[in-house]
Amino acid sequence: MKEKILIVEDEKDIVKMLDYNLKKEGFRIFSVHDGEDAIDSANKEQPDLIILDLMLPGIDGLEVCKSLKNSNKTASIPIIMLTAKSQESDKVIGLELGADDYVTKPFSPRELIARIKAVLRRMKEKDRLPEVLKIGDLTIDFSKISVAIKGKPIELTSKEFELLKTLLNAKGRVLSRDYLLDNIWGFDHAMEIQTRTVDVHIQTLRKKLKNESKRIITVKNYGYRFEHED
Ligand code: CA
Repeated sequence: MKEKILIVEDEKDIVKMLDYNLKKEGFRIFSVHDGEDAIDSANKEQPDLIILDLMLPGIDGLEVCKSLKNSNKTASIPIIMLTAKSQESDKVIGLELGADDYVTKPFSPRELIARIKAVLRRMKEKDRLPEVLKIGDLTIDFSKISVAIKGKPIELTSKEFELLKTLLNAKGRVLSRDYLLDNIWGFDHAMEIQTRTVDVHIQTLRKKLKNESKRIITVKNYGYRFEHED
């Protein structure tokens, strides 16, 4: 499934231009027009990347960046800042706050798309899990799509395996039910399949993981995370 990108920009023409060009690249796009909505949306939607204009009404872009990078739920989401030529020093502060890259206005869609792809590629390299992962009594082999407890293979359905893999990929971050639903069951099914589906699959996955099921932690009224540490 293509990456989900959140655009934070109050200038409608720029949003329209980005929306059109990024959708053409196959990205899933949604946009907000001020800092408060940006923080809400980033938490709720868990986008794969955020394009953040620094000049926003209300909470400005730098504050948004700081807030997102200081919260466990959003710290790992990469941010590309949109800056004006006159904002040289803001750009530096933004990078220090943890933004991943910047593009100076005016920019061409092609330039921004190249930056987006580079940042997403870097993230994937950084996040790549080893082919075989050992956690406690669990051995997860991603190339063979197999899971074993104390060396004894257990049978997971493809959805249970994907669910486990998605939780592991998040490296301890909390994932919302909606996020899991989107990423495992797909956007198109979101209407028909209730978020309850996620809970049911978590239940069966926990049963199969036996003692290690304690690692799947429920975050009430939100979602789940996987505890890697003992
Ligand atoms: Ca702006």
